[in-house]
Order: sequence, then C-alpha cells, then structure tokens
Amino acid sequence: MAEVQVSLGERSYTIHIGNEQLANFRTTNAHKLNKQLFIITNPTVSQYYLKPLLNVLTDHHVDFFEMRDGEQFKNLDSYAEIMDRLISKGYNRDCGIIALGGGVVGDLAGFVAATFQRGVDFYQIPTTLLSQVDSSVGGKTAVNHPHGKNLIGAFYQPKSVTIDIDCLQTLTERDFRSGLAEIVKYGIIYDADFFHWLEHHAAELKQQDPDALTYAIKRSCEIKADVVAKDEREKGLRALLNLGHTFGHAIEAATTYGEWTHGEAVSAGIIIASKLSEVTQRLSASDFRRIKELLTAFELPTRCPDMPWESWLEYMQRDKKVKDDQLHFVLPTAIGQADVVKDIEHTTVAAVITECC
Ligand code: NAD
Ligand code: MG
Repeated sequence: MAEVQVSLGERSYTIHIGNEQLANFRTTNAHKLNKQLFIITNPTVSQYYLKPLLNVLTDHHVDFFEMRDGEQFKNLDSYAEIMDRLISKGYNRDCGIIALGGGVVGDLAGFVAATFQRGVDFYQIPTTLLSQVDSSVGGKTAVNHPHGKNLIGAFYQPKSVTIDIDCLQTLTERDFRSGLAEIVKYGIIYDADFFHWLEHHAAELKQQDPDALTYAIKRSCEIKADVVAKDEREKGLRALLNLGHTFGHAIEAATTYGEWTHGEAVSAGIIIASKLSEVTQRLSASDFRRIKELLTAFELPTRCPDMPWESWLEYMQRDKKVKDDQLHFVLPTAIGQADVVKDIEHTTVAAVITECC
C-alpha cells in the first residue's frame, strides 16, 4: 500500500495505491464520504467491480449509471442523461460522484461532478493502467464534441483517488501496455532514476508483479502530481506531459478508430520526438537507444504508420498544443529531462518522420 499527496492548497488530496483498495474505499475515505453517492461506470467494468464497491457502501444512499463503453460515448448526450438521472432522483449539492472505470468514465464523471449544482464532491476509482497513472490525477475533466476531443470541460480536482491494482487483472494486454507507454514517458521527461528502475524491472512489470506495479504507479502519480502542483493550468511545465502526444494524436486521428491505442500512438510519437531531438543535436544517440530499447521491452511500437507529410501536418496543426500558428514540440534533451522547442524546420520534421516509418 502506498500513498501520494497532491498538493494544491485547499484542493489537495491523497492517492491510495495497492491491492484490495476497492474493499478499503470506505475506510480510506471515511471522514468525508457523502451520504448520497452516485457511481458512474460502464458494463465492462461494472460486471467485475460494481458489486464489491456497493458492498462497502451499504450505509449510504447509492445509485449508479452505466454509460455505454467507448470513447464515442464521452459526449454531451451521456452527460445530459446522467444530469437527468441525478435531478430526477433528487440528488442535492451535498452528494458525491464516484467514477469507476477507465479514463473515459473518469473524464465524463469529473465533468458531471464539476458542473452538477455548480460542483459536487468527486472521487476517482480508475481501473485501467492509463487512468491510474495519468487521467485520474491532475483534475482535467472533459467530454468530446463532434469537432474534436475534450473540447468541453473543466479543471476540477477529486477529493481522492483510489487505485486498486487488482483491477488490472481483467484488463486486456493491449490496454495494459498502453498504460506502460505513459509510465515510460514520466521517466523520460522527469526522472532518470525512475527510467533506470524501469529498465531493470521491465519483466516484472509486464508480468504485473504487485510490488513492481505499485512502485511504478506510485512514482508516475508522484511525478504527475509534482508537475500539476507546479503548473495546474498548463501555463508551462505541464506541457512536458505531452511528450509524444503531438505525433501520437496525429496517428490516432489519421488511422481508423481502434487501430492504434492511445499508448501505442504515444510510444511511436515518443520515438519520433526523440529522433527529432537527436537529429537536432539535443539528445545523445545513446539516450535515444535506451528510450527505444525500453519501449521495445514493453512490446510497444517504435515505428509509425506511413502517411503523407501533408496529413501529419494537418493533424498536428489541429492539435490543441499549436500556439500562434507555430508547431511546438516536446523533445527529450536527456533521460530525465525535456524541453518545449519551436523553430524546427518542417523539412527536418518530415525527414525524421520518414526515417521512423
Ligand atoms: P477507456 O476508459 O476507454 O478504457 C479502455 C477499455 O478498458 C474500455 O473498454 C473499458 O471499459 C475497459 N476497462 C476499464 N477498466 C477495466 C478493467 N479493470 N478490466 C477490464 N476492462 C476494463 O480508456 P483509458 O485508456 O482508460 O482512457 C482513455 C481516456 O482518457 C480518453 O478519453 C482520454 O482523452 C482520457 N485521458 C484523460 C486525461 C486527463 O488528464 N483527464 C489524460 C489522459 C487520457
Ligand atoms: Mg496520454
């Protein structure tokens, strides 16, 4: 069992990490848990984890909503359905919303919590590796719009995050690997020692060894918490968390939905960013090699799909990270360090992408 504190003044909260955390949800949240609780989940997750959660909440007034499973349902229709339910069931300002699921459920539930009655208590129980190390920490909530992902949302911090690593046992291999890509990202941008630790514990992590998993999740949450505490609203440092994402989003947008998972696209994106950094003399060849070898050890893609430069450019320019018409790239400058770089010639980027395909 491990704990991470997210320090944001009066909006501070604790992340609880370990085995059997679902069963401990009430005890770890005892002092503040609301009488009225509303759980948002989906059928894939609820078949395993709803009952165990309900079992520890018998002293509370609890209702739940199962949204349909999939990124395409993280939208205003699901949001409106949940609001209708909360209002018709008489939920009031003192209620608490619990997200039980991956990042899709967490993002939607968080936006519901941020806006129902101008904001009610919110609890995260992330059940995918990606949501445990990334989306449940930091307070970004959102729904998608037909014109783009996460276009409607709010910064809204939870009261607590409960990470039960046992939940990962039912996750598909692919979804598990997807989360590993974000873990590697933290090592690259922030912590050379953690990267080194990952290099030496890749096998245990792949086998979901509980101690290795708990440590990797804890260190990832600490890094994200640290970055968010320094830059909650992404004015600077928080942008480093987007390493690999500008290229990754282009891959996700250009390929058919589901062909590449987010983590797979980020992995290929990290390779392009690292190569770009090496080619522009910012990253050593040996550090590039270590990054590539670690992603390979986790069986993550290190080559990107072959698409015309015009497509890359179009999708990258649509990315929210484009400011004042210039492409900004997060580039690793060493293991454990990264920088936001502009002013790279498009021809250089195009050549690097071709090399990585
Ligand atoms: P997801 O929520 O779609 O989960 C992936 C799949 O795993 C789904 O089919 C889900 O039902 C299933 N699942 C969840 N937990 C399971 C379990 N324990 N056992 C078996 N199946 C399980 O995807 P995700 O990768 O968790 O999250 C992606 C979403 O997170 C995207 O919408 C993305 O925009 C968002 N995100 C948000 C932030 C943020 O800061 N708010 C950061 C990163 C990503
Ligand atoms: Mg990501």
